[in-house]
Amino acid sequence: METKLYTPPQNKSCNLVFWFCYPAINSFALSSLGYLWLLKEVEMLEDVCVEKVATDTAKTKFMPSEVDLMAFSFSFDLDFLNILAMLDKYGIPLRASERSENHPLVFAGGPVVSANPEPYRDFFDFFIIGDGESVNIEAIELIKNNKNLPRREILKLLAQVEGVYVPTLPAVVKKSTKKLEQCIYSTILSDEAFFKDTFVIEVERGCANCCRFCLACFLNLPIRFVPIEELKRVIDLGLSHTNKIALLGAQISAHPKFHELCKYIYDKALENPEIEMNFSSLRVDAITPDVIKTLVQTGSHHTTLAIEAGSERLRKVINKNITEDQIFSAVRIAKENGLKGIKFYAMIGHPTETQEDIEKLVSLAKRLKSNFGGFDISFGISTFVPKAHTPFQWCGRDSVKSLEKKTNYLKKEFHKLGINAGISSAKWDYWQAVLSRGDGSFTQFLIDTYKLGGKTGAFKQAAKQNHIDADYFAESNRDLETPLPWDFIELTAPPKKFLKSEYSKIL
Ligand code: SF4
Repeated sequence: METKLYTPPQNKSCNLVFWFCYPAINSFALSSLGYLWLLKEVEMLEDVCVEKVATDTAKTKFMPSEVDLMAFSFSFDLDFLNILAMLDKYGIPLRASERSENHPLVFAGGPVVSANPEPYRDFFDFFIIGDGESVNIEAIELIKNNKNLPRREILKLLAQVEGVYVPTLPAVVKKSTKKLEQCIYSTILSDEAFFKDTFVIEVERGCANCCRFCLACFLNLPIRFVPIEELKRVIDLGLSHTNKIALLGAQISAHPKFHELCKYIYDKALENPEIEMNFSSLRVDAITPDVIKTLVQTGSHHTTLAIEAGSERLRKVINKNITEDQIFSAVRIAKENGLKGIKFYAMIGHPTETQEDIEKLVSLAKRLKSNFGGFDISFGISTFVPKAHTPFQWCGRDSVKSLEKKTNYLKKEFHKLGINAGISSAKWDYWQAVLSRGDGSFTQFLIDTYKLGGKTGAFKQAAKQNHIDADYFAESNRDLETPLPWDFIELTAPPKKFLKSEYSKIL
């Protein structure tokens, strides 16, 4: 069952029919904060009819022929597979150039296309680059008010909106950046959501730590915080509907009033022991007794800590400047204040990584386990994927063969230690790297990948038949002076000069 925390206008006139598509099943759509927020914003418009469409939507209220506008939330590189499948399912030509005036305009927004829309440029009429909250509404209103114009003319108007990129009209595109005066939160609660009945609250956007591989940081600079009074208001709103709340943000502990926020929730949980709260991953320096007590009081037994690399040398290279002492101190505080365990996130394959760095990850895990007997230590490990707009965008990734050797070693060593470690697939991460640094030559390659079933073998075969040099996209180091496919996107900060100087610090 879905409960809307808002009341849309009744008896709307449908001057524009909008399909808001989520390229995964409905339970994921119901847990996607940005998606739910925009859905609510559009539903509140007086004369726009919006329908939520997920991959498992069996029957839609509107026929595809009645739809004027179709949008996709694009958060993960591999989402393109489900996006193409959904276009196919509803009889929409995959290439924008093959759509007629009778087809809906199709657009996408989200971190993947805000960073680098070029691999997908031929599938969409336009993109939203950056924070979508207000620019999406501006684009929807503009399309509604000019619905009778030919689509080419509508696109010309859209191209003038800040944060909109129309691939057929080349331009420099300035990313849209929103102030966070108003808090974004779950607008629908559902027992079918992946995070069942959980009220998610965005506490801040961006991160000031600038780890050199991190898209979440560089895409969302400058870091912005929701005012504490607004957060308290929204927490109260959430708790009037459910006992489960989650605080979201790349670095929530950097909020200047983070401890006041924890105290506010802690006091609420003392009044109502049924309240459960979760944080997204914490930095080690955010682990204080108060924070852990809040987690424990609100039903958490575990938390996650991102250490990113096993050796201090490599953490310096990636700009994750935390020491081993800080890691041990964080675990001690967590254990002493009632937490049962911590899952550590790490990444392998960082630029300059050696076998010694990998061994140091194992020895760190070993010492954590022996120092904190009875405390549940586990690891989640992924492999480095270079991302556009980060200082590591010029760095090729390690080969699949080398990464598989490292992951096999880690699996064996962690198994010996009795530590649970989930390690991502080097093969899948390779194709993500190809996509993340891809360019406008990818269209047929991606269509063929989708038609061949979308597994790693399909990527390989489709790349071969379309003469795509996948190793070049995933593994080559790029020259600092060679233009990059996504250079036309101007982020709010920082300039490319800063990325270059950060890159040079790797050495
Ligand atoms: S990895 Fe975490 S701490 Fe580092 S920049 Fe990204 S969000 Fe911030």
